[in-house]
Amino acid sequence: MALIPFDDRDGVIWWDGKCVPWRDAKLHVLTHGLHYASAVFEGERAYDGHIFKLRAHTDRLIRSGKILGFDIPWTAEQIDDACKQVLIANNLTDAYVRPIAWRGTEQLAVSAQQTKIHLAIATWPWPNLFGADRMAGVRLGHATWRRPHPQTAPTASKAAGLYMIGTLSKHDAEAQGFNDALMLSWDGRVTEATGANIFFAFDGKLHTPVPDCFLDGITRRTVMALARARQIEVVERVIMPEELAAADEVFLAGTAAEVTPVRAIGEQVYAPGQMTATLLGDYEALVRMSPEEVARRAA
Ligand code: PMP
Repeated sequence: MALIPFDDRDGVIWWDGKCVPWRDAKLHVLTHGLHYASAVFEGERAYDGHIFKLRAHTDRLIRSGKILGFDIPWTAEQIDDACKQVLIANNLTDAYVRPIAWRGTEQLAVSAQQTKIHLAIATWPWPNLFGADRMAGVRLGHATWRRPHPQTAPTASKAAGLYMIGTLSKHDAEAQGFNDALMLSWDGRVTEATGANIFFAFDGKLHTPVPDCFLDGITRRTVMALARARQIEVVERVIMPEELAAADEVFLAGTAAEVTPVRAIGEQVYAPGQMTATLLGDYEALVRMSPEEVARRAA
């Protein structure tokens, strides 16, 4: 499939309060966010015209900025409205939504206290991250890079800089013929894939690693609630790589990945089973419910 570069598309992008033509949404090269990764972003999905768990994403965006030491100069209500506005302005109902906040050009040095904080929101059609046949699943390689200790990097933030490790790991995995990489923590525990959380079925229970050095994803929390609604026991615990061979099922969960079965981790092969199929179906149904219904079920 031919790639269409992201600056060669049409539509509008919300930028600091107004919608600008897509092709005009350009930055100066001496932007702090580019040089020092002082940027935080979100990845959201709209289904049937509604952005799933929009406020949770907006809250995380604001929190991510605070962790990086800046306040986004818009309220959560204004950011929610802007996300909805950009979706409508681009005439999309089923799409990916990407807000990003970054430090501007006023200073270009490690210290950047005087930089202005900017916010842009783009949206584009993006079917499932791993292709249309969801049950076909993905194969994960073992990442050589590890998730850093939470005192080494702001791991609770969806900070642009942290994706350096993800891109390196994903490129390594792809070079070896895998779809994505399973990342370990700095001290060797199982953590997540490069852009999604991971779940395992062990003896009829749903297990997932404790998110102490990676994102406690919105999809992760949604899947845990869906499992509990099905009376499936959810176990958050330390999971070591030696245990992977004993897992009955494995799947990924993330906004872009949605619920995606894992067919292999390195040499170890898995067959997606009933628990994965059930939670995948429940997630697909939930994302298409009205925001009021989603909120009601979460209560
Ligand atoms: N981990 C990483 C590294 C991610 O990029 C994402 C996607 N934001 C997730 C986990 C899953 O988070 P969410 O379910 O909130 O999209």
